[in-house]
Amino acid sequence: MKYDYLIVGSGLFGAVFAYEAKKAGKKCLVIDKRDHIGGNIYSEMVEGIHVHKYGAHIFHTSNRQIWDYVNQFAEFNQYINSPIAVYKDELYNLPFNMNTFSKMWNIRTPQDAQEIIRRQIEKENIREPKNLEEQALSLVGRDVYEKLIKGYTQKQWGRKCTELPSFIIKRLPLRFTYDNNYFNDRFQGIPIGGYTPIIEKMLEGAEVLLNTDYFSFIRENPDIAQRVVYTGMIDEYFDFCLGHLEYRTVRFETEILDCENYQGNAVVNYTDAEVPYTRIIEHKHFEFGTQEKTVISREYSSEWKPGIEPYYPINDERNTALYAKYKELADREEHVIFGGRLGHYKYYDMDKVIASALETAAGEFGR
Ligand code: FAD
Ligand code: UDP
Repeated sequence: MKYDYLIVGSGLFGAVFAYEAKKAGKKCLVIDKRDHIGGNIYSEMVEGIHVHKYGAHIFHTSNRQIWDYVNQFAEFNQYINSPIAVYKDELYNLPFNMNTFSKMWNIRTPQDAQEIIRRQIEKENIREPKNLEEQALSLVGRDVYEKLIKGYTQKQWGRKCTELPSFIIKRLPLRFTYDNNYFNDRFQGIPIGGYTPIIEKMLEGAEVLLNTDYFSFIRENPDIAQRVVYTGMIDEYFDFCLGHLEYRTVRFETEILDCENYQGNAVVNYTDAEVPYTRIIEHKHFEFGTQEKTVISREYSSEWKPGIEPYYPINDERNTALYAKYKELADREEHVIFGGRLGHYKYYDMDKVIASALETAAGEFGR
């Protein structure tokens, strides 16, 4: 066997694992079916602006160890994510905070906001929230739900809020201070120079083959490595033998505009159901860019079909149960380690992917 590990996927999980394996003196081959490294965090330069090709990526974590780890590979800027929400002709700050509430109800104090929300929650009379709609209503009440959650969530997930798990909405902070920071995490920023150089540094010294699909490659090279680290779709690995797991995908309509500043913010969400896209990203604002032109991406969410990139696992009941069955099969594959958002079928942020890859590496090589 030529390699200790064949790593399938040069995304964040594969790259962190490759870096740790290299440190432990292991020989790795990394393959990716795309024509570039980095998976979904890949960024490319357009008009002097780092464009997040597969959607806006903001690094945030509360884990100091992970923050220190990623800072070995890049310096991060001081960007704080503070999206704007547009609902019909109204404009609000996100996440749900005093700026949102004062605009919505023309009030000023936390006591006023808490009282309005308390009355709205009481009216709903929900004891144990069973789905995203009930969870949202019992957290923020009807007004915020109808204007800022319902339409956006249904567009993003292509399902009614009553058919979605409640944990999705718990990702968003709710606070009664005038603070537009979208995350509660201690550390946050955008890597200066983009995300791709992080992956390049992690993969330095590893052999990488692009435009290489695992399934045909392994047929032709069955004895290439002792072990496989697989970060593609878990159901595809097993040839969908138990049925398809569902994923959401996003279509990005990216345009270069001949203006310096299109929307004044990196992220603007369109929260009513009538606007077909979920949000518009203006990439230069992630890095305080002052270029003459600007690059924007409209994001259209849709159901995944073979041939396009899967992005979001849909962790509802049906898919969770099906994943558990695939996981049983995966546990029996002695020479294969499954990892990452698609391999674990989990809605991981980048910091969680790094933590998971480090844990996997520690299991293989010790700490
Ligand atoms: P991926 O990046 O998907 O990498 C998997 C790689 O495997 C891909 O390169 C793929 O081409 C390759 N591959 C798959 N199958 C095969 C095969 N058969 N043969 C060869 N290669 C294969 N996280 C944050 O922390 N902050 C954010 O702001 C944020 N925003 C996001 C926005 C969007 C639109 C999306 C989709 C995700 C976002 N994330 C964000 C999550 C983040 O993208 C992931 O946590 C991270 O990129 C997952 O890394 P991964 O290595 O698991 O998967
Ligand atoms: N969400 C919403 N309105 C918004 C932004 C988000 O209702 O303006 C909901 C939506 O259900 C989304 C979830 O909150 O799926 C989590 O949002 P987040 O921004 O964390 O999603 P990401 O795009 O990072 O996966």
